[in-house]
Amino acid sequence: TGTPLEGRVAVVTGASSGIGEATAERLAQLGAKVALLARRKDRLEAAAERIAGGGGAALALPTDVTDRAAVLAAADRVTADLGPVDLVFANAGVQLISQIGDLKVEDWSAQIDLNIKGVMNTIEAFVRSLELVAAEGRPADLITTSSIAATRVLEKFSVYSGTKAYLSHLTRLLRTELGRKMVRVSTVEPGMVDTELPDHVTDPDATRLMADLLRQIDCLQSEDVAETVAFIASVPRHVNLTEITILPTAQA
Ligand code: NDP
Repeated sequence: TGTPLEGRVAVVTGASSGIGEATAERLAQLGAKVALLARRKDRLEAAAERIAGGGGAALALPTDVTDRAAVLAAADRVTADLGPVDLVFANAGVQLISQIGDLKVEDWSAQIDLNIKGVMNTIEAFVRSLELVAAEGRPADLITTSSIAATRVLEKFSVYSGTKAYLSHLTRLLRTELGRKMVRVSTVEPGMVDTELPDHVTDPDATRLMADLLRQIDCLQSEDVAETVAFIASVPRHVNLTEITILPTAQA
């Protein structure tokens, strides 16, 4: 059918740009009601309006996911306005690559706080709902955005790759507990996607390297990853696509 996600209630973090924004739009097109979380209110509201304009249901909830109380408050709002959440896409992340010897400790913390703690805050806020929905016999999904950086050995990527390796392994570990409760746990590991991600890097050499790579290859678009996330959530309930690597064809 054209609406495989009809009746689903989704939460997408990092929904104000890039992969999260595209995924929120795609999930809504496929029939899900979607709550959009990120910090930039204007961008979230614009995305929610676009979704509503296309006939979908969206709720913009400006939220800093590193703030535990804020995520819990957002969860209460989603449940009250859209109903129990059955699809969580914990996607918000930042990549601030640099040499470890440069001691960019604030960049280290920012990555750990968002890519790891932000995801754990999101899990805290929604895992009970996923378990309850699954117990009722309906599909329930916890999906994260890891990266090929989780397994590749790249200079300047140590802290970022560490956070993504955490997420990929977390998926395997959570499945031992949530799988038997029929909650699916999945992670997407993309290669180069054309988003705002490199814009935040504070190391000028690393910024240049990323920009060059983006120019050299026909890299992924956010919509490509969005389609993958939608597919993970659309397969039959007894099927759990656990780790999906998605690369631009020309990226080695
Ligand atoms: P973007 O920078 O476009 O998206 C990042 C999103 O995270 C934005 O919506 C941003 O919104 C949000 N965000 C940042 N800080 C916070 C915060 N404290 N609280 C809530 N939301 C926050 O990049 P991408 O779309 O590329 O990144 C999405 C995910 O994909 C990340 O986890 C990234 O590591 C991963 N990834 C990206 C790849 C790529 O090549 N682009 C490759 C592999 C993985 P706001 O600033 O409004 O809060």
